[in-house]
Parts: sequence; C-alpha cells; structure tokens
Amino acid sequence: MSNNLAVKNVAIMNTYNRFPVKLVKGKGSKVWDDKGNEYLDYTSGIATCNLGHVPDRVQSKVKEQLDLLWHCSNLYEIPNQEELATLLTENSVFDKVFFCNSGAEANEAAIKIAKKYAKDQGNPERTDIVTFKQSFHGRTGTTMAATGQEKIHQGFTPLDRGFRYLTLNDFDALSEINDGKTTAVLVEVVQGEGGVNPADKEWLTQLEKVCKDNDILFMVDEVQTGMGRTGKLFAYEQFDLKPDVITLAKGLGSGIPIGAMLATESVAATFSPGTHGCTFGGNPLATSAGIATIECLLSEGFLAEVKEKSDWFRTELAKLQQASTNVIGVKGLGFLVGIEFTEPVSPLIEQFREKGILVLVAGTNVLRILPPLTTTKEELKQFVNAFHELLLETEE
Ligand SMILES: *Cc1c(COP(=O)(O)O)cnc(C)c1O
Repeated sequence: MSNNLAVKNVAIMNTYNRFPVKLVKGKGSKVWDDKGNEYLDYTSGIATCNLGHVPDRVQSKVKEQLDLLWHCSNLYEIPNQEELATLLTENSVFDKVFFCNSGAEANEAAIKIAKKYAKDQGNPERTDIVTFKQSFHGRTGTTMAATGQEKIHQGFTPLDRGFRYLTLNDFDALSEINDGKTTAVLVEVVQGEGGVNPADKEWLTQLEKVCKDNDILFMVDEVQTGMGRTGKLFAYEQFDLKPDVITLAKGLGSGIPIGAMLATESVAATFSPGTHGCTFGGNPLATSAGIATIECLLSEGFLAEVKEKSDWFRTELAKLQQASTNVIGVKGLGFLVGIEFTEPVSPLIEQFREKGILVLVAGTNVLRILPPLTTTKEELKQFVNAFHELLLETEE
C-alpha cells in the first residue's frame, strides 16, 4: 500500500492509510464498492458491525426514532437511554451506565472515575493506573497515554502522567501492582489492536485478586471484545471475572456511534452531577440502535450459535497451519481471530481483497479476522477455502 493513495482527496486530513476502495453499500456480511464489486466483509468495520451491515431490526428501530426525536441533551430524562442502561445492567454484573460516543471516551470516563474513587476512599496518593504493553485504549490525550505502545506515543510528549505498563500474562509483574500509588488496573482480556493476544485465565484470576484484596479497581476494556464478539455478551464472562468497571463502544450501536462505561453501584457512586458529562452521550437516536442491537444479541440461541460457528472456524483455520511454513498459529476467542505469521501480513490483505474478502492486521504479523457474528457457515467456508488457496499460492 503506498501512502499517496491516502492523500488523493486533498480535503481529508492524512491520518489513515486507506485502501483504494470506495464502499457505498452493505447488507449482512457483504459490502459493495462504487463499481459494483462485492466483498465479504470480515472486518465488520473493525468489530463494530457485529450484526452485519444495516441489520433489519436495528434499521427499523432507528428509522422509527428518526421520526420522533434525535437529540435533547442530558438535561432531560431519555426513555431510550434508560431502557438500554437497564438491558446492559440486567445482563451483566454492573449496576450503572454512563453513555458517551466512542471507545476512547468510555475509557476516559473509566480513568476519571478511578482517579476520583481513590480520593473518595481517602487514598489521595493513589493516582496511577496500570495498563499493559501492546494494549490499545484510544487516541485521545489520556487514552493514548494509557495505551502501552510506543509507536502511538511518538511525537506527542509530554504524555499524561500516571500510567504504568506491565506485561500481559506475566505472573511476576502482579506483585508490582499494589505499590501504594495504584488506583486501578485497565486490561483487555483479549488484546485486539495489539495482536489478538488472549490473557491467560489463571493470570486474570490472580490479577483480579490483587485488585480486590487492595481496593484497586479492576477495569476491563471491552470496546472490542464486548457485544458478543467472543461468543458471550461480554468477554469477562469467559474468564469468570467480576470487574468493577467495563467500557464498551464498537459493537454497541451496530455502527451508530455510541460508547458506555459500566460500573458497580459502589464505584458509580463516585460520580455525581457536575463531575462528568457528554453532550451527545446516550442520545435518543444512538440508544435506539443500542437497544435493538442488544435485543438481537440476546435473542434465543444467538450467542450459542456464535460460539458453535466460531469454534468450527478457528478449528478449520488451525488445520491449514500445516499448509504453510509462514504460519505460526491461530489465536483468539470467538470471532476475534488472529493468525500469526513469521512476516508482515500486509501483502496478504491485498491478496484477500483481490479474492473479494476484506480482512485486517493487528500489530504487523497478525492477520485479524472479525466476521460479523451473523455470518453463515457457507461464508465461513468461502473464507477457509480462499485462505487455503492463498497459502498454497504463496508457498509455490
Ligand atoms: C477501538 C478501541 C478503542 C478506541 O475506540 P474509539 O471508538 O476508536 O475511540 C479502545 N479500546 C479498544 C480495546 C479498542 O479496540
């Protein structure tokens, strides 16, 4: 991919390396470009269109809301917001929800609540938040500092202070958490952007214990892993955890921008009127998309089918490992799938696109595959076959 493609439209700031494809329509697992070419979209808009593109039930709910009220600010009660908050809390270990518009904003809210929580508990010296190397928490000033990747910090010093980066799955590092300055730990149970790196279950259990034993908040960034992506509504359920706080965004509105920070009662009590806010947060339109989305995810048998399909998919991909010496292995959880290679995968992404399939990278050597949760067995087979062909071609 050459960089100059990204600057073709001179009116758009050059912050992305874009593929030279103009997508104009989507339905289910398929998207179409302006020339009428069809693609199997196994990026799901980066884990956002979990129900596929323009899902019927969300579409009709949003259309209905478009005729009623779009926005009214949080100066008034918002029935849709209350309904979505109830759906989220009734199906999780949390009691309260704060709504915003994006993953970074959800993490900002989590970081703010963690700082104030320590002060409210009479521990003003606890100002730090522990995150992990290879993590990704967003691009705002504070969430960029929370992100444990140097390449994301480059050029933006001085960074916000108070973040320490430990190593995921490092048991020895756990003893460094309770240093008297830590108010919270923020972790992805499967690192998405950083390379599809799942945390070890026993390590997470111990991490949670260190937090609980020392009144340190245990916060899970579920912006990518949440909303059914791993085969449960939230990924923390897969590891039998009980976090104090989680953050959501990507899949929450099926592509309509919405984010949320969920907390238990005692932590949520830290926020009171005037301590935090968001103009668009939880507005009637965005929350209508959220309601329909979560109703679909919770419908009878939906998540069980995601688990069944994704287990089958990852097993089939693992079988192909032998077809190429360049493949190190298949990793991930549910439909958050990574295939690790010995070399950069960007040429492979291009080859997939030539076969009409869209996929992503994570890190440099990991192919990240994020099918819509609604994808069919037929489409999954189409992907497996295309992958097999590509591996054979590149081996020749
Ligand atoms: C995408 C992502 C974010 C940032 O979300 P934005 O909506 O882009 O701000 C934060 N954390 C994780 C784990 C993500 O995958």
